[in-house]
Amino acid sequence: MSLTDHLITRIQQDGPMSVADYMAECLLHPTLGYYTTRDPFGTKGDFTTAPEISQMFGELIGLSLAQCWMDQGRPAPFTLCELGPGRGTLMADVLRATRSVSGFHDAAQIVLVEASPVLKEIQAETLKDHPPQWIDSVAELSEQPLLLVANEFFDALPIRQFLREGDGWCERLVGARDGALLFGRGPNGPQVALNDRLADTKEGDLVELCAAAIPILTVVAGRIASHGGAALIVDYGDWHSLGDTLQALQNHERADPLAAPGLADLTAHVDFEPLAIATRACGCRHTRLTPQGVFLERLGITARAQALAKALSESELNLLIAAHRRLTHPDEMGNLFKVMGLFPAYAAPPPGLEP
Ligand code: SAH
Repeated sequence: MSLTDHLITRIQQDGPMSVADYMAECLLHPTLGYYTTRDPFGTKGDFTTAPEISQMFGELIGLSLAQCWMDQGRPAPFTLCELGPGRGTLMADVLRATRSVSGFHDAAQIVLVEASPVLKEIQAETLKDHPPQWIDSVAELSEQPLLLVANEFFDALPIRQFLREGDGWCERLVGARDGALLFGRGPNGPQVALNDRLADTKEGDLVELCAAAIPILTVVAGRIASHGGAALIVDYGDWHSLGDTLQALQNHERADPLAAPGLADLTAHVDFEPLAIATRACGCRHTRLTPQGVFLERLGITARAQALAKALSESELNLLIAAHRRLTHPDEMGNLFKVMGLFPAYAAPPPGLEP
C-alpha cells in the first residue's frame, strides 16, 4: 500500500485531517514515512543542510558550546545532546573541534534524539569513536547540565494551519476526492492559542501553530535553568510567521506538498516567538534572534576558512569559498536561517549571540 492510499483510507474513515497529522504521517509513518525509510541528505537526496555543506558549521557550534561549558565552571558530567542529528555530521564536527578542550570529552555524555531507524544506523557509524545514547524524547534527558544543538529539527515538527475568518479561525485540512488528496477548510471557531494573532492579521490571512515544539523546548529550557548549560537552536523562520510556509522538497526542487506523501521532505518555517515565551516561562534566558550569517561571522568563520584554505588545491578552494558564501551570505542561508541561544540566568550567553 502506498502512503497516499493509506491516507485516503484514513480520511474516508475518520474525515479530513489536520495539516499536522498529515505532516506527521508523511515524515514519520513507521513503514512509509519520509525519514523512516531513507537518508534524504546531499546531492543524491532531496536537500542539503548546513553541516553537510561544510565542517566549519559544526566546528564553530562546538566551540561556542565548549566556551559556555568553560564559562560555567566545566561541570562534569554533562549531557551533550543533539535533536534530529541527520547523518551525525554536525555532532562529529562538534567533537573534532572540541578535542583539545581539556576535560570536555571526558565529561560529555552524548545523547541523540532521533526518530528514524535508518538515520540512527548512519549516526552510529559516523560517531563510532564516541558511541552515543539514543532517546525517543527529551523527557528522558538526565537531570544534569545540558549543552544542546538543534539544526533544522524544529522545521520538521508538524504544524497546524488556520485561516482568519471574522474574529474566528478555520483550520486548513487535508481531505480526499476522486482518489486524490486536496486542501479544504474546517468550520469557523475561536482558537485560544491564536488570540494574540487577531491583532496582526486580517480577513483571509493564514497563520501556523507548532504545538509539538513547546513541550520539547520546555524540557530543554527547564534543564538549563535548573542545572546549567546552553542550547543553540538553528532553523529557517522568523519571530512569527504570516502565510503558508508548508514546503515540500524533492530532488532539491520545490514540490506540491500533497503530490508525493512520504517521498518528499515536508517542512515549515519555525516561529521563534513561542519558543522564546516557553523559554522564559521556565526561568531560562534566551538570546536575540540572530541571522545565521552574523552568528557564524562573529564566531570567526572567515578566519577558519582562511586556515583551511592553506592546505587546499584550487578546485577544493573554490568549493570552500562557495560553502562559506552559502552558509553566510544574506542571499543564501545567511539571513533566512536564524539562531537563538538558551542560557541560565546567571551565565553569559553562548558566544556569537547577544542577550
Ligand atoms: N540536524 C541534521 C538533520 C536535519 S533533518 C542536519 O542539520 O543535517 C531533521 C532531522 O530530525 C532528521 O534526523 C529527522 O529524522 C529528525 N526528526 C524529524 N522529526 C523528528 C521527531 N519528531 N523526533 C525525533 N527526530 C525527528
